[in-house]
Amino acid sequence: MIPQKRPAEDLAATALEHKIAEQPALSNGSANGTGNGSSLAPLDASKLIITRADPAARPVPDEATACSGNETVCTDHMITVSWNSSTGWSAPELKPYGPLTLMPTASVLHYATECFEGLKAFRGFDGKLRLFRPDLNCKRMLMSTLRISLPGFDPAELEKLIIMLMSIDGPKWLPASRPGSFLYLRPAIIGTQPQLGVQTPKEALLFITASFMPRMDSPKGGMKLHTNPEDMVRAWVGGFGYAKVGANYGPSLLATNEAKERGFTQILWLYGKEGYCTEAGASNFFLVWKTPEGKTQLITAPLDDKLILDGVTRRSVVQLAKERLADELEVVERKYTIDEVIQAHKEGRIVEAFAAGTAFFICPVSQIRHRDVDVHIPMAQGDVGEYTAKIKQWMANIMYGKEQHPWGVVVEEQQ
Ligand SMILES: *Cc1c(COP(=O)(O)O)cnc(C)c1O
Repeated sequence: MIPQKRPAEDLAATALEHKIAEQPALSNGSANGTGNGSSLAPLDASKLIITRADPAARPVPDEATACSGNETVCTDHMITVSWNSSTGWSAPELKPYGPLTLMPTASVLHYATECFEGLKAFRGFDGKLRLFRPDLNCKRMLMSTLRISLPGFDPAELEKLIIMLMSIDGPKWLPASRPGSFLYLRPAIIGTQPQLGVQTPKEALLFITASFMPRMDSPKGGMKLHTNPEDMVRAWVGGFGYAKVGANYGPSLLATNEAKERGFTQILWLYGKEGYCTEAGASNFFLVWKTPEGKTQLITAPLDDKLILDGVTRRSVVQLAKERLADELEVVERKYTIDEVIQAHKEGRIVEAFAAGTAFFICPVSQIRHRDVDVHIPMAQGDVGEYTAKIKQWMANIMYGKEQHPWGVVVEEQQ
């Protein structure tokens, strides 16, 4: 057979797909967990070593107090797991939350060898503690870590570690007396090898924290978006916008700060000379509009050119809308431009818009400014649109146990 010829511009993406396929956990091979050798220890949650903090040392603040300072308030414990290229993953440790020790020459501090995840744990109205589709975050973290040449692992083991942290810190920090509240989980992997020079780190650290995070899903008057400066992009075809790597975020702050100074919440990132709408800050962006023919559509940017992040919230919105709103609207994942949005606005066809992501949850958007044009977006129910409100309620019901659904993963707690 003639080997299939691949276009040259696919090489990088193909290399990553090969690396992911090599991961034993995903391909049912032997479980070495690194994809490059057989004697390396895999990430193994069952080896967890637990060192407990004094439970009386830190009282749990209320949400408002916890979110009012300049430091993220974390729970009693964190999990750390170190890795090096000759032995693999060490035994995971659950220990009191505190500083990490790094040499000034650590890879992450110079070459942005870092990736992260963000997911929430929810205290349900039925008293149970849940995670929302954590398997998707763990798989995405594997993709991100391989994209920047940090070590691989079995995503199921990462999920077990996240669950263990919540099973221990959940009862105290997300008490049953606070139904409807959440904590934010932040797994991250960094390259720690203390050697300068652009190279693949031979040492790495995986860590997981759990913390308070302010609610950002209903800003007064809705989220206001400003399109990015004409001479700036967040991500590009062939880049790494689809991976949750730290390198995507620092450089975006310049534009975000300028937008904030002008009273806007986030940047709506456009791409290319066509001005394709991609993401709103670090969340996915959805628009409900009527087509010129009068059809109602829920539209969002596609994943296939790897420009945008494959959000768990985005996926869930798409899936729920297809399942539950099929009679009312069509769900469309395609490229669309800011000019199409402006045209629709002129013709009165914009129905509503929202940002979707773990941090912002489902956040109504009320305005988009593009250069000197303002697109005002209706919010039919005053502070939220009708479809936005429906989708948000369905998601919240799953997260907080008002609807039993496979996406809500219950954590057994250690009382
Ligand atoms: C994390 C993130 C999102 C949202 O993803 P979720 O899985 O829904 O939290 C969207 N866009 C960017 C750029 C992100 O970093």
